[in-house]
Amino acid sequence: MRRLFHYLNPIAHLGERTYSVIFPLLTTTISCILLELYAYKIAQNPDAINMLAIVLFIGYIIYFAFREGIRGGFIATTVTVLYYVYIIYTRRHTGDQLITSIETVLVLTFLYLFMAGIIGWLKQTIDELIEKEADEKKRLQAIIQQLPVGVIITDNKGTIVQANKQVDYILDMKVPLGFAIGKEILVQSVQDGKPNGPPQLPLIQTLASGKPVVGQEFTIHHRNGKKVYVQVSASAIHNREGNIIAAASIISDITSQKEMEERKDDFLNMASHELKTPITSMKLYIDSLMVKIGKYKDNRATAILRNINTQTSRLQKLVNDLLDVSRLQTGKLSFSKEEFRLDELIEETIEILQGSTKKQSILFVKKTPITVSADRFRVYQVLTNLLTNAIKYSGEGTKVNIRLYKQEGSAVVEIQDFGIGIAKDQQKKIFERLYQVTDDKEKTFPGFGMGLYISKEIIKRHKGAIWVESEKEKGSHFYFSLPLGKKYVS
Ligand code: ADP
Repeated sequence: MRRLFHYLNPIAHLGERTYSVIFPLLTTTISCILLELYAYKIAQNPDAINMLAIVLFIGYIIYFAFREGIRGGFIATTVTVLYYVYIIYTRRHTGDQLITSIETVLVLTFLYLFMAGIIGWLKQTIDELIEKEADEKKRLQAIIQQLPVGVIITDNKGTIVQANKQVDYILDMKVPLGFAIGKEILVQSVQDGKPNGPPQLPLIQTLASGKPVVGQEFTIHHRNGKKVYVQVSASAIHNREGNIIAAASIISDITSQKEMEERKDDFLNMASHELKTPITSMKLYIDSLMVKIGKYKDNRATAILRNINTQTSRLQKLVNDLLDVSRLQTGKLSFSKEEFRLDELIEETIEILQGSTKKQSILFVKKTPITVSADRFRVYQVLTNLLTNAIKYSGEGTKVNIRLYKQEGSAVVEIQDFGIGIAKDQQKKIFERLYQVTDDKEKTFPGFGMGLYISKEIIKRHKGAIWVESEKEKGSHFYFSLPLGKKYVS
């Protein structure tokens, strides 16, 4: 309708400035002529037009001041005043017209100009504000479009209101998202090997919970079959009252990083496999050499060989850990469950470790006979990791306490040391792969940050939990829980 009016309007194509002069001028002038024709030809009473003229022209002035700004209001006022002057001079003979003198016209003129000025100024201020907002919106849109990451913005129902071209590019959608504005977000992706429907999408999660979702990784397949890894973060946007009004999501293509990581993992896997066989043979040769040298009672040679043996054992542990990490990454670490007495396994582990350390005494302070259903060797591995850490990170002459008890249908093992402790902000991170706490970027303790990661994964796969409570300089309590066996002893 607006468009039709625009095409039919013969002066619509004039420049904005000319239009804002011509339009009010023509309209008010034509109105004056029509009023006069009506007054003389139809009503046959020119005075009847007085009231109508005042009301109509007030309307015009308000309308044009608002539509065309101060200029429009002033032009409408000028035509109105001229018409009033005309009325005074043509109706002088009668005495009952409303506009009787030039003074009245002057007062009205002043009032009209004031009205036109105020309304015009208001209109100009509103226009400027709208323009500023539109400019800012445009600038923001331009920034979003040019960001090197994909950005999707939805309303509070998950309907896309904005998306940049990077999103189409990264997700390679059949219907480009840029054109899917107004559609609900639907992207088929895979997370942790499972197809990922809308409820798991970070945008939907953040809209449901109101909390930000950070760095979730997904695998998607492009139309040409290419596997692409993406990292998605999303955050709900709240208004002042705290209600969710929108959500924004950032999508980055991390395929090259992931491929690099995969290559590194492949290399580690291959290298540790290749290293495992010669180290195992070395250990066997060292063992038989120890027996042989023992016969000659050569103390120096025995001491050297013992050192070689210790270093080879460390190397063997490192290679085994590397292999375990790589198997965990690829889901190839196998478990064979059996029912066994956890208290007995703890005693055996203490015996082995106490044999190789004289610095600390490991005490089994709370012993509860408990049977668990788990992989015995892997649980032994977890115990060894936690106990060696407790020894490694505490000073000479201190104690390491172990407690075993039942709690809410699980067996809980607690390993307490009185060592260097772990700062609060590090306590979650130490269970991550290859994470090590370093003081002032200086590496103070030997290690690779694999032990706790392997332990966490082993316990997770037994449907148990592993956690730490610690205070810097005071010591740590490491805990892990395992489901009880069917015939646990109480
Ligand atoms: P690492 O081979 O470095 O010991 P872990 O995965 O076993 O690797 O441990 C990760 C990090 O956690 C260590 O670098 C250490 O800083 C910290 N940590 C582990 N156990 C303890 C402990 N009992 N006391 C203090 N810090 C510990």
